[in-house]
Amino acid sequence: MYPFEYQRPANAQAAVAAFSGDARYLAGGQSLVQAMKLRLSQSERLVDLGGAADLAGIQVDGGQVVIGAMTRHAQVAASAEVQKALPALAELAGGIGDPMVRNMGTLGGSIANADPAACYPAAVLGLGATVQTNQRTIAGDDFFTGLYETALQPGELITAVRFPIPAKAAYIKFKQPASRFALVGVFVSQGAGGVRVAVTGCKSQAFRATEIEKALTASFTPEAAKAVVMPSAGINSDLHGSAEYRAAMISVMASRAVAAALAR
Ligand SMILES: Cc1cc2nc3c(=O)[nH]c(=O)nc-3n(C[C@H](O)[C@H](O)[C@H](O)COP(=O)(O)OP(=O)(O)OC[C@H]3O[C@@H](n4cnc5c(N)ncnc54)[C@H](O)[C@@H]3O)c2cc1C
Repeated sequence: MYPFEYQRPANAQAAVAAFSGDARYLAGGQSLVQAMKLRLSQSERLVDLGGAADLAGIQVDGGQVVIGAMTRHAQVAASAEVQKALPALAELAGGIGDPMVRNMGTLGGSIANADPAACYPAAVLGLGATVQTNQRTIAGDDFFTGLYETALQPGELITAVRFPIPAKAAYIKFKQPASRFALVGVFVSQGAGGVRVAVTGCKSQAFRATEIEKALTASFTPEAAKAVVMPSAGINSDLHGSAEYRAAMISVMASRAVAAALAR
């Protein structure tokens, strides 16, 4: 690890003020600390958000679930409010990694990190969420811009994410058994804004499967999702699964997600 200064401000405003130069925000450290240990990441200063109580918390308000950036995955999974209003999101959070990852990892850290196999990006796209920062509101559809890349500017702090509550939703992932990241994860929702289908684990960033959205808009059934043949062009291929395999699994996971959403 390279040497760095460390600061732990007491709120979001102080965290933004403490950020300078090539500083990094530290959430739960589940991705950042590992990268630092491997000397893949070097910053002069870490601004630890762990003391900023105003960045954590869950509110269900006006048809939305609003979750603070520093809310841990375990808190989302255990929240009675989220379980009632948006059970698909509570289940998604409860399926992330292992207990340590869920107790330390945060919503803000997950989406800022933009791992191509992370689960929350599928929920952000699959629900049409909006990302609130200290500077602006970013539409979920515009937030993820590439491999580990987002629309955030240097020093811009995610404060919360607003998830609209749909009529029906579910997230199903085919897990990498060691890490439990998604080999193929699909979030499906049906609500006032129509049908949304978002996929993670298959490209450099999460994306919407418009082919399946079209099929499910015509008929919101598992059969309709499963009948879609997803193109394998541009889909990841590695030792865990070929592009053709993953493309086929997108329709299968979408079909299971629709079945789960209808069964609620
Ligand atoms: C073994 C293991 C298994 C995992 N399995 C899964 C899984 O199954 N599904 C899944 O989705 N994820 C998984 N993860 C990732 C995990 O969910 C964490 O959310 C993710 O690693 C980010 O960690 P963190 O919240 O501690 O953020 P950190 O590691 O502290 O930060 C990550 C990045 O986000 C930036 N950042 C953090 N907070 C903010 C903010 N509020 N505003 C702006 N930038 C910010 C940091 O500067 C850093 O660049 C796994 C991780 C591990 C180690």
